[in-house]
Amino acid sequence: MVVLQFFQVSSDALTSSNVDWDALIIISQNPLAVPFESVRTALLQQAAIDKRIGQQVVLSLCPSVPGQRLITAPVQIDDEYGDVSVYAEVAQQAISQAQASGAKRPLMWVEHNPQPQFVQALEVAAFGCAQQLWLPLEAREAGHHAAIESLGLLDVSAETALQLTALEAGKSLTRDLCGTEPERMAPYAFADYCVKSLAGTDVQVEVIDDIDTLLSDYPLMCAVGRASLSVERHQPRVVQLEYRPVGEVRHTLLIAGKGVIFDTGGASIKVGGGMSGMSRDKGGAAAVAGFMKTIGLLQPAGVRVVAQLGLVRNSIGSDAYVPDEIIASHAGVRVRIGNTDAEGRLVLADLLSHLRLAAKDAVQPQLFSVATLTSHAGRAYGRHFATVPNSVAQPVLAANFTAVARVAGEPAMLSPLAHEDFSVISDTSLAADVLSSMHLGSSMVTRGHQLATAFIVTASGLAKHGANAKQPLPFMHLDIAGAAIEGDPRYGKPTAVPLQTFWHYLQQLI
Ligand SMILES: [Zn+2]
Repeated sequence: MVVLQFFQVSSDALTSSNVDWDALIIISQNPLAVPFESVRTALLQQAAIDKRIGQQVVLSLCPSVPGQRLITAPVQIDDEYGDVSVYAEVAQQAISQAQASGAKRPLMWVEHNPQPQFVQALEVAAFGCAQQLWLPLEAREAGHHAAIESLGLLDVSAETALQLTALEAGKSLTRDLCGTEPERMAPYAFADYCVKSLAGTDVQVEVIDDIDTLLSDYPLMCAVGRASLSVERHQPRVVQLEYRPVGEVRHTLLIAGKGVIFDTGGASIKVGGGMSGMSRDKGGAAAVAGFMKTIGLLQPAGVRVVAQLGLVRNSIGSDAYVPDEIIASHAGVRVRIGNTDAEGRLVLADLLSHLRLAAKDAVQPQLFSVATLTSHAGRAYGRHFATVPNSVAQPVLAANFTAVARVAGEPAMLSPLAHEDFSVISDTSLAADVLSSMHLGSSMVTRGHQLATAFIVTASGLAKHGANAKQPLPFMHLDIAGAAIEGDPRYGKPTAVPLQTFWHYLQQLI
């Protein structure tokens, strides 16, 4: 795996005789006020004959910087609703120009913006560059590589550079797992890629591949994968991951990731071209695996992290599960299938039921699920992901998590549950306890992504751990359907949302 490496570089490196680096990128609201005198002088001269300087991303000749390439990337924050992701956008343009010009080892300086919502500008800009430079696994396996594999960061600590590189290693793993086509990243291949990528870190990886075990322990997930069982390479897997810190455990994060390797919709088949791009329906599991990679590299103290990834193909065939079937979840809740294209919530309900049991003996547990779950979330919130908490997480944790996401450049919207989300999905016939979904797709249903979360809370058994229960368990569902891919949902680059948010949230806990 090729991962962009970040390096700490002193501003003493800003001389034309320095051959270690070959370009300088300036990211600032006012590049003409850059704190390096020789660069500032050159820029003021250029600005006198080129009105684009300070208005748009421009590459110019500057004899006083390494490689003589100077790229100015002005950041425009022109309204009070802006968020820090604007730094990623200009960084993407700047690194593209650097690469197109032939640079291989650019330096980058990012202004410090003291406003609270912009304090992570450097990190967000650095990851904008990494996102832009990443190439799909299939492209790399065909021999294509980014020309830039190192980025020097001016005015940062060595610790920051190391941390950014570890975060990018996790993000890169996420992009590979999420963005790769469904045969190359079939369930067994996804599991193998996790094992290989996490080897040598402090993360324990265990793959459940025995079909009888999967059928008895993950009954809803196996209903989704029923039509895939006859094709050996398409059979489901569960990947269990665990990081235990050295010393005392003060908090435990338990995270379920949806890894639907390909989603045909099943018997409720996707029509009108809606199946294209559905190899990206594994973005939740991919982000969780990437987060575990970062955790394994950085080995934070005080927090134990446990994860389960459900890897399954929602195939179609004569043995496919169909609407109206009633299937008992791992938690013993009888689920009537509403629409087989609402499969992700079934996978998560079983995974979370296992994590619910693990949480009973855990220190200060918090449960999460991460999924490209509903087109409704994308319709409602666009590029923002939805944070849907249960009654325990609602008052404090969910607001904290959502605020952290915004500062980390992965903006989210807090989306609380309401009483009717639970009553709408109850099966009034008593033949089952709960409906998995309405018969229509989520974007056609009022409160589509909230209903999905109410189902997950119910079918996983977490409904018995609400705010008034003997053992309340805080839970947040993160619907990343609108946030997981940048640009074209079929071929755009995976973003690795919400990996940075998890990391900063964890930092806040310890
Ligand atoms: Zn689906």
